[in-house]
Amino acid sequence: MGFEPGTLFFASGVSAFALAITMLGVWLQNRLDRFMIGWMLGMVMLGMGALLYASFPLENKPVTALSFSLEIIGFVAVYVAARLFTGRPVSLGKCVMAGGAAIGAVVIPILAGPNGIGVMLINLIAAVCLFLCAFEYWRAFEESPFAILGITGLYALAGLTFVACGLVLLIDGQWVLLKHPDGVAEQINAIAAIAGITGIGALSLALNQMRAARRHRIEAQTDMLTGLMNRRALFSNFTANRLAPGDAVVVFDLDRFKSINDRYGHGAGDKTLKEFAKQLRMYARPGDVAARLGGEEFVLVMRQVTVAQATDAAERIRREFASTPLKFGDTAVTVTVSAGIAFAGSEIDSFDDVMHRADMALYRAKNNGRDRVLTELQVVA
Ligand code: GH3
Ligand code: MG
Ligand code: MG
Repeated sequence: MGFEPGTLFFASGVSAFALAITMLGVWLQNRLDRFMIGWMLGMVMLGMGALLYASFPLENKPVTALSFSLEIIGFVAVYVAARLFTGRPVSLGKCVMAGGAAIGAVVIPILAGPNGIGVMLINLIAAVCLFLCAFEYWRAFEESPFAILGITGLYALAGLTFVACGLVLLIDGQWVLLKHPDGVAEQINAIAAIAGITGIGALSLALNQMRAARRHRIEAQTDMLTGLMNRRALFSNFTANRLAPGDAVVVFDLDRFKSINDRYGHGAGDKTLKEFAKQLRMYARPGDVAARLGGEEFVLVMRQVTVAQATDAAERIRREFASTPLKFGDTAVTVTVSAGIAFAGSEIDSFDDVMHRADMALYRAKNNGRDRVLTELQVVA
């Protein structure tokens, strides 16, 4: 092929640095993306290792030992970043121990004489780290299949080229090397390093952006205090998926909530809202939709229920909430809730219509003394 591996390794070191700077910029914008920091540190270490490796002869034992040590730290950091990405626990102690053992295993033969063994081992260690990274990303396949497929493939391919480099030395029995190995395997390995660093780097940035976009989308649909769906998401959900005849909408409104804020403070009011949301979430069945409309108003949408089932469910929530006093400091306070229920009766009933009718029933529940559940049927009766 005619490419000189030293020059290629130098180029891979430079691209690793360039990527590290990009990652730093992205991380500074959003410090939640911790895996970026692992990646950045990994790239700095790999970059320095590659530049040292390419700039000094192999017989300079201290520099070779240092360059291989930096490479090992870099590979371990990249693996840690992959685990941070998939949200799996990272034991720093284990990483330090494994990294230290790997460095010892590589550096001792480099300094002691049979440097070929050191070079074989660094290839083996690099391959193991890269395969582990590939496996780690593979676990997140569902998240973004194409990007993950690309990353996994690049890690695995890069790993294979390291295996090839190690195997060539092993098969030839090159226990003592006088200069950097520079056969076809090294040329392919160096090219894979450049392709891997740039390709994986670009895909990692893309994945990070997709995650940020998904996070923002979820935040925009969530009520921050209670974690329930917010009003906007509720309405857009039921504009897209209309109610069917037999679906029920329950609107809950906490009773005399203003007086809780006034008497016990806004914090107590917030705690009450969170407690009610917890109750609502606990009683909602799979398929039901629970949301906070705003203030102290909540909605539960139940699919395909009878009048009795919907009333029972709302009544259970009302009773349970009223019978669980809330603790504000030393004071236990009973808070009650009123609810109104309406049903989608025909295909043309819009969500807004049913909500409005549930609101009317709620209004009646309030006027009838609060702490009760009324259905719209009672309006007709
Ligand atoms: P009713 O029994 O008729 O429903 O009386 P109410 O006091 O519950 O109703 P009102 O609408 O008069 O008061 C609602 C209060 O809810 C007023 C507002 O300050 C408070 N509120 C709205 N959003 C929040 C919030 O996020 N946190 C807290 N702590 N209070 C809120
Ligand atoms: Mg209200
Ligand atoms: Mg109220």
